[in-house]
Amino acid sequence: MNVDRELLERLRAFHGHLGPFAMLGYRAGRLALERLGARSHFGISARVTCPDHTPPSCFADGIQFSTGCTLGKGNITLTPSETVSVTVTVNNSGAALTVVPRREVMAQFGPWMAEADDETAALRVLAMPDEELFEPIS
Ligand SMILES: [Zn+2]
Repeated sequence: MNVDRELLERLRAFHGHLGPFAMLGYRAGRLALERLGARSHFGISARVTCPDHTPPSCFADGIQFSTGCTLGKGNITLTPSETVSVTVTVNNSGAALTVVPRREVMAQFGPWMAEADDETAALRVLAMPDEELFEPIS
């Protein structure tokens, strides 16, 4: 498997460790930007929902990492919820896209971390195609 080592080190430096939910957030944010044809950091905003505890809340850091939407720029909101999702909006056009990870995939993260470790689970998430990680985008 051809792994992007630089990406892994940057995500680790940002979040403090590599885990499946941070990687899932990275993938979700990246997918939203790709589908919207949007650039990161400015001119977009992100609305994140996820449980208010780790590890699922690590999803929000992955979103910040890939979208560049951050607390300090005021272009991200985080709403505690049992549902994990991100909606990215392009400010100019109002174009928006919501990415929802598949519950059955997230249900595997605990077992994956237990049988190996957080980083191995993150690498599994990185290797999965978008269609397996996320619900179809409408
Ligand atoms: Zn984490």
